[in-house]
Amino acid sequence: MTNVITRFAPSPTGVLHIGSVRTALYSWLYARQNNGRFILRIEDTDKERSKKEFEDNIIDGLNWLGLNHDEFFRQSDRAVFYKERIIELIAKGAVYISKEEPKEPGERAEVLRFKNPNKVVTFRDEVRGDISFDTTELGDFVIAKDFDTPLYHFAVVIDDFDMGVTHIIRGDDAISNTPRQILIQEALGAPRPIYTHLPMILAPDKSKLSKRHGALAVTEYREEGYLPEAILNFVALMGWNPGNDQEIISLEEMIKLFSLEKVQKGGAVWNIDKLKWFNKHYIKLFPVGKVSDEIFARFPDALREKAEANPKIFGKIIPVIVDHISTFGEVHALAEAGEYDYFFDDPTYQRESLLWKDENEPHVAGQKLQKVLALIDDIDDAFFVPETIKTAIWGYATEAGRGSVLWPMRYALSGRDKSPDPFTLASILGKETTIHRIEGAIKLLLI
Ligand code: GLU
Repeated sequence: MTNVITRFAPSPTGVLHIGSVRTALYSWLYARQNNGRFILRIEDTDKERSKKEFEDNIIDGLNWLGLNHDEFFRQSDRAVFYKERIIELIAKGAVYISKEEPKEPGERAEVLRFKNPNKVVTFRDEVRGDISFDTTELGDFVIAKDFDTPLYHFAVVIDDFDMGVTHIIRGDDAISNTPRQILIQEALGAPRPIYTHLPMILAPDKSKLSKRHGALAVTEYREEGYLPEAILNFVALMGWNPGNDQEIISLEEMIKLFSLEKVQKGGAVWNIDKLKWFNKHYIKLFPVGKVSDEIFARFPDALREKAEANPKIFGKIIPVIVDHISTFGEVHALAEAGEYDYFFDDPTYQRESLLWKDENEPHVAGQKLQKVLALIDDIDDAFFVPETIKTAIWGYATEAGRGSVLWPMRYALSGRDKSPDPFTLASILGKETTIHRIEGAIKLLLI
């Protein structure tokens, strides 16, 4: 088999969008799976709209995702090659200089046109099967404004030919470009690559996917605290599956399992919740040290200082934080909302908040907390972990009413309507702080 060469050919007219990542990923996977080569080609023929910052963003995003390329090209560096081919095709009679009626005064009066053989082009698409197209309607299309300014369709064909691209995997918005590109290939005597046009990714309401559906640039996901593994896994399954229900697939596995034949014909539908679900999964597998770095980095300054001053507590709250987030970015908002303050500082709250539902007797609640305090006091410091704390209190709580015992205990420790369970909280805070906070609540209840 010929050595597989694929390419990802973004135009640097915008940032690397998550939809394009799928094209890049499938091209990359196919090359890796076949021990082939993967080319990154920046298609900047549109000089006005192409920007270096977008090129940088695309490269940065791909690097971060780990989709490394074996070769790199930029169309603006290749003008001489396009020119050579134009000359070659003119010599062959396939391209001619066409005198044009300038639309505006001062406009060029010449362009280079392809002499259309006006025939039906049939090509095979790996997803859709055979596609036929009568090229007559294209007329003698323009391939370059002048010898130094090729148009996009022409540059693509020359590049794919020169670079030996065997498989073109791209979005199906490019499908209608294919017949014209094939005509140019044929005139050059270039081999026809194998085409796979990927069905578009649609918004949940089947409209065009956009930012408002949560589809962002890759670098924006990075800022929001998504992991590359999650993005790749999510993107891979938008339009492909390994033929079973397996959802969690590493990049290594994808290389083995990916197949162009299994790319689905129907448009894949975007689902941000699914992306979050993947991210939550991969965060849990992320090395603990890195998780705490990510979380620390997203703490507001004041909280960072507290975390630094209390490394033991900070270490203990990591799993609690992770349990409640899908992305690291959520940490910042939760921290700002005060969700983590009580781990470091005694909470303040109203006496009434300590009362469980219909329990309207502060004295009764106070007495129950006194019992809890006694039970906690009996636990050996060395065994102050959630299981032991729970065992110590559970019997009494069951007897006296779980809500009416555990609610005030939890509230005394966190001062919030929602927080981890009281046993986890107590173990994070440690015996001393736990006792101190419960004593404070008792005082408030028994005044
Ligand atoms: N530069 C084109 C785009 O960004 C690539 C089309 C192709 O892969 O041939 O849509």
